[in-house]
Amino acid sequence: MPLIGFDNSYTRLPERFYAPASAAGASEPWMFAFNEPLARELGLDVETMKRDGAALFSGNLKPDDAANVALAYAGHQFGHFVPQLGDGRAMLLGEVTTPDGRHVDIQLKGSGPTRFSRNGDGRAALGPVIREYIVSEAMHALGIPTARSLAAVTTGDAVFREQAQPGGVIARVAASHIRVGTFQYFAARGDEEGVKLLADHVIARHYPQLEGEEDRYTRLFEAIAARQAALIAKWMGVGFIHGVMNTDNMAVSGETIDYGPCAFMDAYSATKTFSSIDRNRRYAYANQPGIGQWNLARLAECLLPLFGDVQEEAMEKANAALKAYGERFQAEWLKVMRAKLGLVREREDDLKLIQSFLSLMEEGEADFTLAFLRLTAAAGGPTTDLELADRDLRGEFSAPDAAQIWLDGWRLYVAGDSISPEERKALMQKANPVYIPRNHRIEEAIRAAVDDGDFSLFEALNRVLAHPCEEQPGFERYKAAPLTHEIVPRTFC
Ligand code: AMP
Ligand code: MG
Ligand code: MG
Repeated sequence: MPLIGFDNSYTRLPERFYAPASAAGASEPWMFAFNEPLARELGLDVETMKRDGAALFSGNLKPDDAANVALAYAGHQFGHFVPQLGDGRAMLLGEVTTPDGRHVDIQLKGSGPTRFSRNGDGRAALGPVIREYIVSEAMHALGIPTARSLAAVTTGDAVFREQAQPGGVIARVAASHIRVGTFQYFAARGDEEGVKLLADHVIARHYPQLEGEEDRYTRLFEAIAARQAALIAKWMGVGFIHGVMNTDNMAVSGETIDYGPCAFMDAYSATKTFSSIDRNRRYAYANQPGIGQWNLARLAECLLPLFGDVQEEAMEKANAALKAYGERFQAEWLKVMRAKLGLVREREDDLKLIQSFLSLMEEGEADFTLAFLRLTAAAGGPTTDLELADRDLRGEFSAPDAAQIWLDGWRLYVAGDSISPEERKALMQKANPVYIPRNHRIEEAIRAAVDDGDFSLFEALNRVLAHPCEEQPGFERYKAAPLTHEIVPRTFC
C-alpha cells in the first residue's frame, strides 16, 4: 500500500519545467500541527498520517510514488524582473485526487535546498511556518480561496537568520503552485512551446470548461483575471495585506499562496503596510487591486503569441481583458462591501456610503474589524439595545460625533429596504468576522513556541479562527484590537 497514493501530473510535463529535488531530512522531526479535517477531505488515512507524519512531512520518509521536484519559475520582485527564481526552499511532494474529485498539490516548504536555492539555505524558520499555518487556515475559514495547511513540523535543526532559530517545515496543499512567474520563466527564454504546454496544462487542471474552445487562451487569460478580481476583493473585505504580491507569488488558480510577511490590519489605513522589506509601500492595502492588474499585464505579455497571429489584435484582446479585470474587481468589491454594510438594494449611492464609512474609519483611527462588527450589532432587531449599540460603535472612533451622524444617515438610507432588522443583521454577521488573525496574537503565539516550546497559544488561535463569524465566549482577547503597546507594526520574512 502506498503511503498516500500520489497521482502526479506536473512531472509528465517536459523536464525543463522542474528540477528533481530531495529533502535534506531533519535530525529530530516532531509534528506539532496536523490538520485532521483537511486530511480527511483529501482522502488521506488519518491514523497513518498521525503515525508517520513527522517523518513524511519533514522529508525523512520518501515515498516511492512521490514527485519530489522543485518547480521552475521566474518573476517580478518589487517590479524588477528575475528570469530564474524557482522553488528554492520548497518541493512538490506529490499530487493527489481527492474523494470529491479535486486534484491538488502537496508541497513541503522548508525541506532543504534545491537547484533553485541560489544563496539560500532552503530552510524555513519556525516563526514563518507558524504564521503561514495560522493565516492560511484562517483565510479558508473566512471563505477566501487559499492554499491550506496540512501539517507542520519542527526539524530539531537550527536555521540561521539574524540569529539561530528552530527550523520548521510546513506541508501545504494548493490547487496547484503554478504562478504568473511560471509563464514568465518560459516566455523570458523565448520558449513559446513551453508557454503553450503550460497554458494547456493550466486549462486541463483549473479551467477544464475551456478545453477545445475556440480562442481558448484568450478565454483562459480572462478567466484567470476574473478569479484574481474576486480573490483580491475578498482580501480587501477582511483587511488582509498579502505583503509580497510579486508575480511569482500569484497563483493562476485564483488561490492565495506564498504567505510571507502578510498581516491583517487593525486600525484602518488605506496605505497600511506591514512587510519590513516593502519600503515604498508597493504592496500597501489599497494598492493590491492595482498590483493584481499589473501582474496580469505581465501574464498577458507571456500569452500574447497565443492570442493570435496578428499582434495588434492580440494586444487588443489583452487590453480588453485587463480593462474587464478593473470592472470585475469593482463589481466584486462592491458585492463584498455591500454585504458588510448590509446594503441589499444595489443603489447608485451605495459606493458613496461605503467610501464615507471608510473615510470615517481612517480619520477616526477605527479598528477595521471591530467597526464593522459594531455596525452589525447596530443593525438592530427587537432584542437589541440600540442606545448601547450606538455607544459601542461611537467608541471605536476618535471622533464619536461624526460616527453617530454617519450611523444615523446609514439608518435612514436602509430604512426603506424590504428586509427586517434581524435579516439584515444575519446577512452582516456572515460578512463581518468577529475574529481575524491579529498580528499581535500571531506574534505572541510564535514567541511562545520559539522561545518556550509552548504551542498552546498557537492551538488556541487556530481553534478560535476556525469559526471566525461566531462569538466564542471566553475568547475576548482574540477579538480585541491591540492596545498601543501591543501593536506589531512590522512583519519579517
Ligand atoms: P518568496 O518571495 O519568499 O516567495 O521567495 C522568492 C524566491 O526566493 C523563491 O525563489 C524562493 O524559493 C527563494 N527563497 C526564499 N527563501 C529561501 C531560502 N531560505 N532558501 C532558498 N531559497 C529561498
Ligand atoms: Mg517572491
Ligand atoms: Mg514565493
